[in-house]
Amino acid sequence: MTTTISPLIAGNWKMNGLRGSLDELASLAHMLISGENPRAIVVICPPATILSEVAQLGATAGIQAGGQDCHTQAQGAHTGDISASMLADAGAQYVIVGHSERRADHGETDDQVRAKAEAVVAAQLAASVPEAANFHDVIVAYEPIWAIGTGRTPTNEDIARMHGAIRQQLSARFPEQGPTMRILYGGSLKPQNAREILAVENVNGGLVGGASLLAKDFYTIISAV
Ligand code: PEP
Repeated sequence: MTTTISPLIAGNWKMNGLRGSLDELASLAHMLISGENPRAIVVICPPATILSEVAQLGATAGIQAGGQDCHTQAQGAHTGDISASMLADAGAQYVIVGHSERRADHGETDDQVRAKAEAVVAAQLAASVPEAANFHDVIVAYEPIWAIGTGRTPTNEDIARMHGAIRQQLSARFPEQGPTMRILYGGSLKPQNAREILAVENVNGGLVGGASLLAKDFYTIISAV
């Protein structure tokens, strides 16, 4: 792992979670409070229906909250959609955009994803100081689709090659901040493989689906950093 970048582990709960799931969050918070200080920034992205509860409960243990998607517009006639500023209002500090499941289930295109990412920056800009648009606040997650939810992972060499290529591209495009932007690995990150994957060069943390639903597993991954 590149040492100058603080690692981040994000749990993507996807379409899982009712109020009852907060027991798992409470367990995770307890583990984080009573265990060794984690090296990683910990983020949970629950369904929007329980975002504010997760933000409040998580805050007691330094866990931050994030959304799983947002609309490109700040407001308007878009039934069922949620804007970046609404997520922020509910307590989110992050949002995942362009997840492969959104692309597959809702036909999202690169252009839409880019517009969403710009909407997030615009919302941050409006709500905060201009430095909020700093590229340090952009996190890239590399997730091979075939590894998501399958229990299969690429080799460490493949992960290193892809993350190295992403780093190169970011650095070419953003010469000042590209070298320190976080690049997360996602796709069947589990307690059993977290230690070795998180140690691969240019892997600055993880985006975790299935294993983020059980506090014990997620805590093991956080502790592997
Ligand atoms: C994901 O959907 O972002 C993901 C990485 O899922 P899983 O960890 O279950 O493969």
